[in-house]
Amino acid sequence: MSDRNIIVIQGLTKVYKGGVDVLALNDINLDIKEGEFLAIVGPSGSGKSTLLNMIGLLDTPTSGTIYLKGQDVTKATADQRARLRNKELGFVFQYHHLIPEFSALENVMIPLLIAGKSKDEAQTRAFELLEKVNLTDRINSRPNQLSGGQNQRVAVARALANSPSVVIGDELTGNLDTKTSNLIYDLLRELNRKLNQTFILVTHDMHMAEKTDRILRLVDGKIVCELRRKGDGFVESDVCDLGENGQKVTRVGQSLDLE
Ligand code: ADP
Ligand code: MG
Repeated sequence: MSDRNIIVIQGLTKVYKGGVDVLALNDINLDIKEGEFLAIVGPSGSGKSTLLNMIGLLDTPTSGTIYLKGQDVTKATADQRARLRNKELGFVFQYHHLIPEFSALENVMIPLLIAGKSKDEAQTRAFELLEKVNLTDRINSRPNQLSGGQNQRVAVARALANSPSVVIGDELTGNLDTKTSNLIYDLLRELNRKLNQTFILVTHDMHMAEKTDRILRLVDGKIVCELRRKGDGFVESDVCDLGENGQKVTRVGQSLDLE
């Protein structure tokens, strides 16, 4: 992780207008470092996806500013935002959203082709990416021929295709068993360390907390708690309300215990 901020969020507020207005994000201030591996937790409806959608330029805030690599993206045009999404951001969602008629290789090639790579270049790069997620033996398989975990690994490879600065995951292991989830998190952590890309992951899974640099807890659109890793794996904060039902989470030695 470097000392440089890749994302700076200032006074970010989102109100969904409707019959009743919903204040989904309430004045969020947050700096994210280049190469950081960040988890966002919090109860359902607390604004986690809304925050990711803002960072991922999938939606626009009601007020506040987001800087990505120093650029105020809230002022970007629709074209600029689309280009930034393709080049700087990688997305992995709960459902893999792979194209069913396409092979693993072809699915990973799509963002490369969109970015203007030739078919040969895209193919070579897609193969390398599938190698990184340990799927070279399944490059010709279609999503319905792969397990949930394998499809999510294809989705990770696709997210990394254009070497994005920031990879965003929303409950990306929500459908997977614990063992497969852990494998995916280990893989993401390894990629994060190797490639120095920033990872921002929304999760319900506290096992993931073990692997992060920082955990933020959102409640009612506000960051109510922040745990930071320090040195070789300790989190600097005594007690923090991170659990779904108000459980207290305390760092004890190297392990994060849920009480
Ligand atoms: P989380 O991901 O933490 O479950 P969300 O960010 O999806 O929470 O939602 C935050 C709040 O905003 C919730 O009250 C939700 O109902 C509301 N919300 C989310 N998306 C929309 C939308 N498109 N229109 C109106 N309200 C929304
Ligand atoms: Mg959500």
